[in-house]
Amino acid sequence: MKECEYRQIPPGTPAAPPSSAEPPGAVSVAVAAANAATPAGRQRRKWEVFPGRNRFYCGGRLMLARHSGVFLLTLGLIVVTSGLFFAFDCPFLARNLTLAIPIIAAILFFFVISCLLQTSFRDPGILPRATPSEAADLEKWIDNLGTSTYRPPARTMEVVINKYMVKLKYCYTCKMFRPPRTSHCSVCDNCVERFDHHCPWVGNCVGKRNYRYFYAFILSLSFLTAFIFACVITHLTLRSQGSDFITALKATPASILELVICFFSVWSIFGLSGFHTYLVASNLTTNEDLKGAWSSKGSSEFANPYSHKSILTNCCAVLCGPFYPSLIDRRGFIEADAGTPSTPKSEIPSFGTKSDASMNSALAVSTENDVSGRGPRSRTEKKEVARRLYT
Ligand SMILES: [Zn+2]
Ligand SMILES: [Zn+2]
Repeated sequence: MKECEYRQIPPGTPAAPPSSAEPPGAVSVAVAAANAATPAGRQRRKWEVFPGRNRFYCGGRLMLARHSGVFLLTLGLIVVTSGLFFAFDCPFLARNLTLAIPIIAAILFFFVISCLLQTSFRDPGILPRATPSEAADLEKWIDNLGTSTYRPPARTMEVVINKYMVKLKYCYTCKMFRPPRTSHCSVCDNCVERFDHHCPWVGNCVGKRNYRYFYAFILSLSFLTAFIFACVITHLTLRSQGSDFITALKATPASILELVICFFSVWSIFGLSGFHTYLVASNLTTNEDLKGAWSSKGSSEFANPYSHKSILTNCCAVLCGPFYPSLIDRRGFIEADAGTPSTPKSEIPSFGTKSDASMNSALAVSTENDVSGRGPRSRTEKKEVARRLYT
């Protein structure tokens, strides 16, 4: 399998990177010495001070997005529909057709539920935020890049991936340059590697660590829904042979509910499965497809740099690639000597904490000044403008 070439190109003539051994953008969990232990003396774990908008269960072993109501609806619909099928249709079908029907349905049901739970409760590939010292180092490094011009330094970095230039954006919340294919989920407030989308139906982001489970979930759910739908139709047809259809419906009223649920859900589930099959075959994410990031239209300049140019290799790379460990170490203990302040949310905002929009407007203002010739002349003036714009 082809290896991705990932070489960083220093923009312009950069100053020396941060003094720490890690490259700019490398991150670790922000922990607070003050939070290391509760008043009772119990050592606290990292999930208890996790800065993102997630909920943790079972001592941090399981995690979900904060609003998980739709996930419970998904789980409820699958369990109720399958439960009705096992209770009202399976006994008749096993007696009059074959025992294979309840066995196949049971295997599909357990597969669907296990894939759903793996997707929902897994860390989707969250990148830990930079610690205050790492963020300060990076800010210093970025600041040094802008010393030769009046404009604030651009918050992007270019890397080469498979001979294609890819731009990395700076995340103002996580205080780091997002690695390739990483995006910040506005619902969970985390940067997620190989971010696909935030799925309220599974109550979690879909990313690098849970995409294969998500794909297996929607694919197996398509089969389960179609299987139940076909079996219920068969059940009603067999029952109505001796009498009329209304009498058959009266004998098994739950079948109507199953038919309605399956009929209305099967189209969207089939559509979603087809769409994600196309994404897997092209090694794309939903995020990239919706943004049209690699809409090449035949031009090699913007072709998807992650594609292995073969459907089979792309499928293997996405679905059978290595299992990546979680980087947020949510069960780890907070170290007492791990450094200063608390979570990034409670930090005194540095100039990097402004939103992209405010940064863009600030850049626009700065450019205007330069063009009109009313821009800051001296280094002190330049610093003052930067201070006013970003603090
Ligand atoms: Zn982020
Ligand atoms: Zn999310």
